[in-house]
Amino acid sequence: MIDIRDANFGYGRTSVLQGVQFSLATGDFVGLVGPNGAGKTTLLRGLLGLIRPQRGERRINPPDGAADVVFGYVPQEKAVDPFFPLSVLDVVLMGRYRLLGPGRRPTLADRRAALACLGHVQLEHLADASFQDLSGGQKQRVLLARALATEPHVLVLDEPTSAMDLAAEKRLMSVISEQHEARRLTVMLATHDLNLIGRYGSTVAIVAGGQVISGSPAEFLEARQLSDVYGVELQVHEVEGRRFIV
Ligand code: ADP
Repeated sequence: MIDIRDANFGYGRTSVLQGVQFSLATGDFVGLVGPNGAGKTTLLRGLLGLIRPQRGERRINPPDGAADVVFGYVPQEKAVDPFFPLSVLDVVLMGRYRLLGPGRRPTLADRRAALACLGHVQLEHLADASFQDLSGGQKQRVLLARALATEPHVLVLDEPTSAMDLAAEKRLMSVISEQHEARRLTVMLATHDLNLIGRYGSTVAIVAGGQVISGSPAEFLEARQLSDVYGVELQVHEVEGRRFIV
């Protein structure tokens, strides 16, 4: 669906990533890892088309004859303050604006679609609550509902579980995983939690040293590769067929 060929991405004349070869196909579940400042967000911006390659190219091939690839974006929790005065349902309705077209108000059908998305994240009962009164984990689920309301081809999440406790993280990941499986939704998830990728990802992309390397989780979730990328000692344990990183 998206092909990045031999591309450099960066800002002004500085390139953060060089010679990026990366493909995203329908139904992929990509876990994006790498140290802070390595260029994960820069790669996401390049994939989304928010920044252009300084060299090389980004080719898109929209699915099912659609005119463009539609992205649903779930930002980091610290980026959500601008929604302060809105109700939960209003925040989810923002996801419908692309489908509404300029100047049209949301219809009953849009409200139903937004409520259905709140249902996917099990928060319909909070539709009329004020967004600012929710917990961090609930806010992230509302933002996921907003992203789903855009009817995206690709769901892009930037460290969605970084401020969550384990129960909240599990709830969020199970919604994402359900949507991925039920609709073959393509998912791109930047995270520091390597265990999430071991568990859910079909592909791992590692951003480090200006390069992007991708492969299967089995290939990459090896202690030595990870230790090199993060510069610390990590161990990989296998318990009942699942890999855990400590
Ligand atoms: P990560 O998401 O892995 O933490 P980023 O992609 O945010 O890394 O940042 C990679 C590098 O690009 C950093 O050195 C950062 O300072 C720089 N950078 C990020 N955004 C901008 C910007 N808008 N303008 C200039 N430099 C930027």
